[in-house]
Amino acid sequence: MNSSDILIIGAGPGGYETAARARALGQSVTLIERDELGGTCLNRGCIPTKTLCRAAEVARTVASAGLYGISAGVPAVDYAAVSARKDAVVRELRDGVEQVLSGVNIIRGEAVFEDLDRVRVGSDIYTAPRIVVATGSAPAMIPIQGAEYALTSDGALAMTSLPEAVTIIGAGVIGMEFASVFADFGCKVTVVEAAKEILPPFDAEVAKRLRMSMKRRGVEIVTGASVTAITPDGEVLYSAKGKSKTVPPATVIMAVGRRAVIPSGLVEAGVRLTSRGYIETDERMCAARKGSTALYAIGDVNGRCMLAHAAVAQGEVVLGEREVCSPVPSAVFTHPEAAMTGLTEEQCVAQGVDFKVLRATFMANGKARAMGEPEGMVKMIVSESDGGVLGCHIVGPHASDLIAEANLAITSGLPYTAIRASIHPHPTLCEIMRDLH
Ligand code: NAD
Repeated sequence: MNSSDILIIGAGPGGYETAARARALGQSVTLIERDELGGTCLNRGCIPTKTLCRAAEVARTVASAGLYGISAGVPAVDYAAVSARKDAVVRELRDGVEQVLSGVNIIRGEAVFEDLDRVRVGSDIYTAPRIVVATGSAPAMIPIQGAEYALTSDGALAMTSLPEAVTIIGAGVIGMEFASVFADFGCKVTVVEAAKEILPPFDAEVAKRLRMSMKRRGVEIVTGASVTAITPDGEVLYSAKGKSKTVPPATVIMAVGRRAVIPSGLVEAGVRLTSRGYIETDERMCAARKGSTALYAIGDVNGRCMLAHAAVAQGEVVLGEREVCSPVPSAVFTHPEAAMTGLTEEQCVAQGVDFKVLRATFMANGKARAMGEPEGMVKMIVSESDGGVLGCHIVGPHASDLIAEANLAITSGLPYTAIRASIHPHPTLCEIMRDLH
């Protein structure tokens, strides 16, 4: 039996960051991984998609060069080269993860639970007083006729040539990011979404502005439409307002959410799953205890928040380095970007919170105008009684970076006046955060 202070299963951001931190704290750490280091985020998610986003941005910039007084012609996209660069970035970062994990005992193979306190890899048994399940998630598919003709996000990222037309099922974060990227690469893009608005968890005003902006860029977005079937040649059949409709043949990408990846033997050992199939955890991320062993689950597998940085924060809770895991900012890397943290206006209304909304548009921001990206706005939700920041919602250039200041205010319990009191450099996008009224 192999024993260490902490045993972690899954080397995604939740698993490998927790492993590295535990090692830095002087603990003996075993990390089991059956695939590449880095998990979904590094190999099939955040990093490869952001590499595509950057290539798409270059294509868009070249295509619009005339607006800046530069003649550059129509960009020719060599998608095989775009894809190769993506793979190279992923490889480099993966090597970096290996270095971060120096001193961690990395075991390659499939972890199977023999009991709550015993994990087997091949014929070897591992145990620890703290076992952390960080096995992540995989793309979910809706059980419709012809689902096998659709690519998942994994398949979409593996493409080495550019399709002429793409139909994306689901206007969540993944669907909208792919829509934005493929539109910039010149593909005909159609998005079919079951809900009334895109990006369901986002502030409705931000989601609407993003939808309108994407439509202006030529992306067709059909909402309130439930997909019923996919034909072998990629035609998508859906029903909307009681009528059956079709999207012409295209490469189909299904982006309708993700499901937890539960290690074999875990449920049999007594761990409970939620009704949606995630590992049930308490506020300390603990899923079960047996004798002197506590079993934790962090990241996508517990279904609390499917974001890499949330998984890392949950690992810090397990290590006793953090008490709470909120607020968690989130960003969508579309063009324009969208980002949010804290409560939405709709949530404030539903919860009976006394609030006011402060706003500003990028139209009045000198840097955004100079960049030629004046589209979008910031919307800050502030407590009416004490001015505390409750939420922030941004659509516009670098929204993913700008959200950090509002997240700091919420995390630290600062009022909006603290943001206003802080001198912001000029001319910058971040000035918009102190110009809200
Ligand atoms: P999601 O849950 O965000 O969105 C899925 C969308 O599919 C929803 O809008 C849903 O209404 C729609 N849908 C479901 N069934 C449908 C049907 N039959 N017809 C049409 N539409 C249907 O899921 P996702 O976009 O696949 O992302 C999965 C997870 O990965 C999310 O939790 C997300 O936060 C995370 N993620 C985050 C980022 C980021 O932060 N930038 C990027 C990628 C993924």
